[in-house]
Amino acid sequence: MKLLEERIQKDGRVLNEDVLKVDSFLNHQIDPELMQAMGQEFARLFANEKIDKVLTVETSGIAPAVFAGLALHVPVVFARKNKSLTLPDNVWTADVYSFTKQTTNHIMIDKRFLTAGENVLIIDDFLANGQAVDGLLTIAQDADLNVVGAGIVIEKTFQKGRQLLDERGIHVESLARIKAFVNGQVEFL
Ligand code: 5GP
Repeated sequence: MKLLEERIQKDGRVLNEDVLKVDSFLNHQIDPELMQAMGQEFARLFANEKIDKVLTVETSGIAPAVFAGLALHVPVVFARKNKSLTLPDNVWTADVYSFTKQTTNHIMIDKRFLTAGENVLIIDDFLANGQAVDGLLTIAQDADLNVVGAGIVIEKTFQKGRQLLDERGIHVESLARIKAFVNGQVEFL
């Protein structure tokens, strides 16, 4: 998506060899017009699928997921992150290791918001090693949902997430695909 790539070039900051900071439009301050355009693009990319619900993980997945849900006219459910080891039994859970924070989060979704047989689209801000999406796939499997695909705002193709999702047979669509960070600059695929 050209608009997004231009914005990454303009405002993204390469922190080290594998982390991009985009906190001026996606991860802290949010540009709603860009989010809306991205939501419409996700709806276009998955137009052939029947989608009942959008799933994401808090916090940074929520903005793009809400605009995808708006464009698709379906509800959005976000998994909450819970550091506590004691979990109530009315939730679906999965463990997600975050390589940017180097911690494991237990993510959870209240069982009331997922119904067996629903067709869900997963949305997230970044695809790095695929752990966040994989956690949502675990929940989807446990809850007997049908995952129609994963819409990613920024994919870093040099990390192993894409391969993991391809191996799981997931239809992945990314709005920006980064090939590498070279001398502090972003190179797209
Ligand atoms: P994964 O689970 O695919 O390894 O990583 C995805 C999650 O880690 C995303 O939801 C995002 O919050 C965070 N993340 C991964 N890579 C980056 C990055 O380069 N920049 C930022 N800001 N977050 C990232």
